[in-house]
Amino acid sequence: MRIRFGPAGKPVDFKGPMEKVPSYLAELGLDALEYEAVRGVNIKEEKARLLGEEAVKYDVIMSLHAPYFINLAADKQETVEASIRRIVQSLQAAEWMKAYIVVFHPGYFKNLAREEALRRTIEALNRVWEEARVLGVSKPWLGPETTGKSSQIGSLEDLAEICSAVDRCRPTVDWAHLYARSEGGHILSKDHVVKVIDFIEKHFDPEALKPLHQHFSRIEYGKGGERRHHVIAAQEYGPEFRHVCEALKELGVDSVIISESPLLDRDALVMKEICEQL
Ligand SMILES: [Zn+2]
Repeated sequence: MRIRFGPAGKPVDFKGPMEKVPSYLAELGLDALEYEAVRGVNIKEEKARLLGEEAVKYDVIMSLHAPYFINLAADKQETVEASIRRIVQSLQAAEWMKAYIVVFHPGYFKNLAREEALRRTIEALNRVWEEARVLGVSKPWLGPETTGKSSQIGSLEDLAEICSAVDRCRPTVDWAHLYARSEGGHILSKDHVVKVIDFIEKHFDPEALKPLHQHFSRIEYGKGGERRHHVIAAQEYGPEFRHVCEALKELGVDSVIISESPLLDRDALVMKEICEQL
C-alpha cells in the first residue's frame, strides 16, 4: 500500500517550465501532480509528452483536471457539445502526459429531476468515449469528482450511477467537498471515511481503489455547500486530514492525494507529515 502526495498545479514557489515540476517535486519528497487545465486545455503535444516522460523518470504519478466550464446535463445542446469537446481534449492531453485519470465536475441539476440529470450525463460521457477512441485515446480513466454544492451533480451516489453506465469511469473523492455539500455533517470521523471507502468498494470498478484518486484541503461552507478552500493551518475549518489518513491506513488503500489548499505543495507536505505521524 502506498499513499502519494502532490499539488494541484505548479508548486507555489516554482518559477520554471511545467516539465521541470516533477524533478522539483521529487526533491521536496512529493510523488503526485495534477495538471490543471481548468481554464482550457492548451498544452501542446510535444510539451505534454515531455512532462509525462519527466514524471515517469522522477516517479511522480500524473492526473489532469479538466476545464471548470463543463455541464453535461445542460438544457442547451451547444453547452453539452462544448463540454464533451473539453473532456475529449482533456483525455487526449492526459494520454500524452501519461496521466491516469481526468478529473471533472459533471454539471448542474438546475430544474432537472436527478434521474434526468444523470441520464444526460451518462449519454454525454458515452459520446466522450466514442470521440476519444476515434483519436486513439484509451488509457486514462474518467474521474468525475464529488462536488462541493448540493446544486451540482456529484454526490458519491450520483457518481456510482454514472460510472456503472460508462466505460473506464471511477470516482475522484474530494473529502472537503463531501464535507461542504453536507454542510459540515459528513467526514467528521475516521468511521465516516471508512464508510465512504466501503461504498466505493461495493459500487465501483475494483480499479477505483488502485489507487483511489483524492483531493484534500480545509474548506469553508455556507447554505448549499462550498464557499472556499483553506490552508491546513486554518483549524477553524474542517475536515480533519488525520481522519482520512487513519482510514486509508487501516484499510490499506493505495492513494493519490492532491492538495487543493491555497498552499498547494507546502500543504501536501504537511498532509504527508500528518499521515506519517499516525
Ligand atoms: Zn477537488
